Amino acid sequence: MGARSARLANLWTARLMPFVLLGAFGFASWVLIHRVCTMYLIRKTKETSLAIALITIYAIILLLLVSSYIRVAVTVTFNPGYIPRGPAGFGDDANNTDTLNESEKPATSSSTSRTFSQDLQHPQPGETTAVNLPRLPSTTSLTDVLRSGPRAEHAPYLHHSNPPRTPNVPRPSGPDPFPSNLSLFTSKSIFVCESDGYPRWCSQCNIWKPDRAHHCSEMNRCIWRMDHFCPWVGGVVGETSLRYFYQVVVYALIYCLYLLIVCGIVLSRRGTEYDSETGATSSPDSTWISVLVLSAFFALFSFGMTYSTTQLIYRNLSTIDAISAGSKVYQLAIRDPNPPARNIVQESMQTQLPETHRRVWFGDRCYVICKTMPGENPWRQPTIIENFRDAMGGGNWWNWVGLWGVAPPGTLGGLEGFYVWNQQVVRRLKRDAGILGKEEMRGAEFEVRRHG
Ligand SMILES: [Zn+2]
Repeated sequence: MGARSARLANLWTARLMPFVLLGAFGFASWVLIHRVCTMYLIRKTKETSLAIALITIYAIILLLLVSSYIRVAVTVTFNPGYIPRGPAGFGDDANNTDTLNESEKPATSSSTSRTFSQDLQHPQPGETTAVNLPRLPSTTSLTDVLRSGPRAEHAPYLHHSNPPRTPNVPRPSGPDPFPSNLSLFTSKSIFVCESDGYPRWCSQCNIWKPDRAHHCSEMNRCIWRMDHFCPWVGGVVGETSLRYFYQVVVYALIYCLYLLIVCGIVLSRRGTEYDSETGATSSPDSTWISVLVLSAFFALFSFGMTYSTTQLIYRNLSTIDAISAGSKVYQLAIRDPNPPARNIVQESMQTQLPETHRRVWFGDRCYVICKTMPGENPWRQPTIIENFRDAMGGGNWWNWVGLWGVAPPGTLGGLEGFYVWNQQVVRRLKRDAGILGKEEMRGAEFEVRRHG
């Protein structure tokens, strides 16, 4: 099966699955409420209060499961966390300038510069740096500069102290190959970068990929903190839906276990007595057995899902990142709050720094490129509860059972980054690069004393 047909099969499974699951819920409810509780417990053995209690508990679990399922299905459909695409045809020389100007139109005042990613930016009070930093190509003519208006004032200031770029992915080479979402990154103190200091590039979406974002081939879009494409919920599980997805797998496990236990006990109690009045054969009720078998199967399945998802959340990994988690080395561009003067940087700075700690400038913001240790997860938090908070979109455990309150994508880390960094890792990297501030230095010493 080719990639295209596999993709189509996935999409169709995703579309049909909600109906299949609703059918299964309907069947199980009919068996439990009608066949087990009404026909057997109320009419036959006259255990009305037991039947009512069983139905009530069942209804509560089903309500939690169905509402979280609806919530995840609605979220992956209407708020899937797609990252806005860059201008179409990016990198083509023809007719590109206008599109660019439309999408990354810099405001006349640098402090109010907003792009299509405006909801995700949090300019610091008092910080006057424009976050919109398009790179002006060396071949730009004076007319181009004049036509692009306010852009000219930001223009010639993206410097590279690196050797010529050796991108890992092919990037476009148009008149202005850098879409406006670069400003998303330069508004953060730390972001994941390639070896040249630029963020990861998605050539399908024409954007710089935010940390932990991945391109989903089924949807052909980059998705915030993508976890996996899930046909069961009809779309991509990512940052906006992970919380509801986790609720679904946990509630599904509780639901299946409940059905399994109730049907198992009733079946073993009933024996062959049931059929004398209805005239049916004395063999066990086939609908009970089918619910028993189905719930046993799905209990195993949802146990596996609950276990693996819990483990991933605890390790602060997505399904995709977990594949290479053991050996992965992240390259982080960490902002130097007190960079040396620009001309000095270009001429002599590289000799004062370890070879791995190159500098890259975005506007007047200077970043140092650092590498994590193999297998080190720079987002993993020291405590279980913090890792869960990170995945569940903020709040505390009592918020996590409900269906509200997920933080908007990319905002959890604030100005520090797209997501909350492991401060110990960050401090070590900064210290190694020689850019640890005085405040942080004290914090690091404190930590060393506490742990060492
Ligand atoms: Zn993409």
